Amino acid sequence: MIENIKGLTKQLLEEIGEDPSRDGLIKTPDRVAKAWKFFSQGYSANLDDIVNEAIFEEDCSEMIIIRDIEFFSMCEHHMIPFFGRCHVGYLPNKMIIGLSKIPRIVDVFSRRLQIQERLTGQIAKTIEELLDPVGVGVVMEGRHLCMQMRGVEKQNSFATTSAMLGQFRKSAETRAEFLSIISKEKF
Ligand code: ZN
Repeated sequence: MIENIKGLTKQLLEEIGEDPSRDGLIKTPDRVAKAWKFFSQGYSANLDDIVNEAIFEEDCSEMIIIRDIEFFSMCEHHMIPFFGRCHVGYLPNKMIIGLSKIPRIVDVFSRRLQIQERLTGQIAKTIEELLDPVGVGVVMEGRHLCMQMRGVEKQNSFATTSAMLGQFRKSAETRAEFLSIISKEKF
């Protein structure tokens, strides 16, 4: 994979009118290949290994929320980054997951070519499958460089997407509780 991406990057540099043999670019194909290996890690990640032994039975029925999880992903239409914050909440039904595992799940689905809508849904669905909770809510706020860099002149706009499952979908009250917590000022 690395060798092929190196070759493709060299070709791309030539196509855009660059000289891949000049000093500043000589190592660029190698760096780009390594970067893409990282950006695409999510395709080969194994969720079972990641959540491994971090799901517990716990007598907890209150909403659990992890907010402001940073995410970085690549827009599948332009292969340019989009990034921002992700907020995840769920209402447990006996099972809970180690708090640190939720950002790991966000990473698994972010490190691939994505659209923000699908990414949001995949995170919600994964938590639903792992924990069978009463409900799950995921809200993502993302800045899309493909919008910001290509002259659309929307420098300060960001896209908000959400996925609400179970009780978060059925109950306006549950949804409102989640949305109010994630929009509170941070301490
Ligand atoms: Zn795009």
